[in-house]
Amino acid sequence: MGQFQAWFRSDADCLDYLEWLRWPEGFLCPECGHHAWRLGDGRFMCSSCCGRTSVTAGTIFDRTRTPLTVWFTACWLFATAKDGISALSLKRVVEIGSYQTAWAMLHRLRSVLVRPGRERLSGTVEVDETYIGGEEPELSGGRAKGKKVLTAIAVEVKKPRGFGRCRMAPVSDASGASLEAFVTDNVEPVTTVVTDGWMGYHGLAKLGYKHERRSQRAARAAGEDPNQLLPGPHRVASLAKRWLLGTHQGAVDNAHLIHYLNEFVFRFNRRQSRSRGMLFYRVLELAVMHKPVRYQDLVVTRRPRDVPPLPPRTRGRPASLERRPAERPWRRRETDSG
Ligand SMILES: [Zn+2]
Repeated sequence: MGQFQAWFRSDADCLDYLEWLRWPEGFLCPECGHHAWRLGDGRFMCSSCCGRTSVTAGTIFDRTRTPLTVWFTACWLFATAKDGISALSLKRVVEIGSYQTAWAMLHRLRSVLVRPGRERLSGTVEVDETYIGGEEPELSGGRAKGKKVLTAIAVEVKKPRGFGRCRMAPVSDASGASLEAFVTDNVEPVTTVVTDGWMGYHGLAKLGYKHERRSQRAARAAGEDPNQLLPGPHRVASLAKRWLLGTHQGAVDNAHLIHYLNEFVFRFNRRQSRSRGMLFYRVLELAVMHKPVRYQDLVVTRRPRDVPPLPPRTRGRPASLERRPAERPWRRRETDSG
């Protein structure tokens, strides 16, 4: 925290950090790869094609109306808090004027967490599916289930105990087509995949996986808890549900569930990371590599519960967190009154 405050005292510091992340060897023209001049307004002009660009152009900070000190503080809170931060908390802590702005910032950060081409799970992987999300306190019992989303879960299991990385994704149904697509997207070929006896998984061996089936009926006959047949997905599902209800108070719309699941998976897979500062670095690094995310792209449904009705620009932009040293104003006030 101390280092964060010392490093990023001004919006210019933050901009320079993004520039360093994006072009550690110095600016190169994104169009033609040539070196460039720095213009008076901080933008760059290519020495060859004369194209003009800025540090934030083409990243998730493109055309942002939010000062970078606010962005960096949001990213710091997002990356370093063990369970993340809700839009409401961010709005309050950073004193962002509108909930919409805070909400959209967090969704932009979430959207960068899935790196294209990331490695798939390997070793021994348990796969199962469960209903998640759509928690509506006003609905009780079975009726609420209709609001939940069928979610596939894959977890690496370690010997003799413990879990490795996980992946989660909503699936449209429990058919073979849906579940096999989830497995091939998230698990390396030739991996040992452990599932229950559900027929949706019957095609896995044909896809080149070593498929191990555990029968619920056999577990019951042996006096074992059938819920513990696949301890990895069972554990991850309960952690994810608790996280959605805790940090986000269950106020997660189904249409955005996938982004919250991506955030949960990012946190789970880095749960043993000692350095929270490295997570901050990692999120910003992904953010400058990620193409811009428009507000309209974030608002994917007509009137989801966690989507604010108005775009953020209607409320103006948050103020920079940049401050000059205040010279101990409490002492000054004492002297004035004395
Ligand atoms: Zn150029």
